[in-house]
Amino acid sequence: MMNSMMDKNMIQGKILCVSGPSGVGKGTVIDKLMEKRQDFVLSISMTTRAPRGEEKDGIDYYFCSVTEFQDLIAKKEILEFDIYSDEYYGTPVGPIREFIRNKQNVILDITIAGALQVKKIFPEALMVFLLPPSMESLRDRLLKRNTETEEQIKARIKQAEIEISHVEKFEYAILNDKIENTVSKLEAIIIAEECKYYNQSAKFEQLFNI
Ligand code: 5GP
Repeated sequence: MMNSMMDKNMIQGKILCVSGPSGVGKGTVIDKLMEKRQDFVLSISMTTRAPRGEEKDGIDYYFCSVTEFQDLIAKKEILEFDIYSDEYYGTPVGPIREFIRNKQNVILDITIAGALQVKKIFPEALMVFLLPPSMESLRDRLLKRNTETEEQIKARIKQAEIEISHVEKFEYAILNDKIENTVSKLEAIIIAEECKYYNQSAKFEQLFNI
């Protein structure tokens, strides 16, 4: 049973949701963060979209059919999901449950709607919204990475405008203008979270008997 009520004296794995419009650079930021913070792993999502380029099943995503995805939703095996560009994307609940239990920090690279669902289940999840320096730069990035058709890029830009209007629902927002700065800011957010008394109370109790 997934329970958001955490025992304050039990340090559990942290959930870090990194959201932001497609093309903002979430993947690169997450990769760089994980080079610095090896205590974080990335959750592998399920999706009904087809693999792109070099993507591999079980590494980049678990690729599945719509029927399989809907079946997992019905069985409550999906923590959160969203329909993005007419495809399902979702976080398998089993590994997340295990990570938390094993005190393993985990990063979710998910849509805004997905992150908001996670926050409802895990209010202690860290929510970070990555913003592009401008809409033009986002369009440029999507064009340059050459993984979508022109029509798909247009749809993603439209979706990005809607998504950016929800930035206020996130506790942290970072303008991704320079990758090193973005990663440093993300790391600073994590460190600040770790310094919260709440997250250290068990240690302090042991050290100082308080
Ligand atoms: P892409 O097709 O570019 O890999 O991903 C499209 C969007 O789906 C990205 O914004 C990505 O963050 C999001 N996404 C990937 N996995 C998940 C997931 O498990 N849940 C949700 N809600 N969004 C996801």
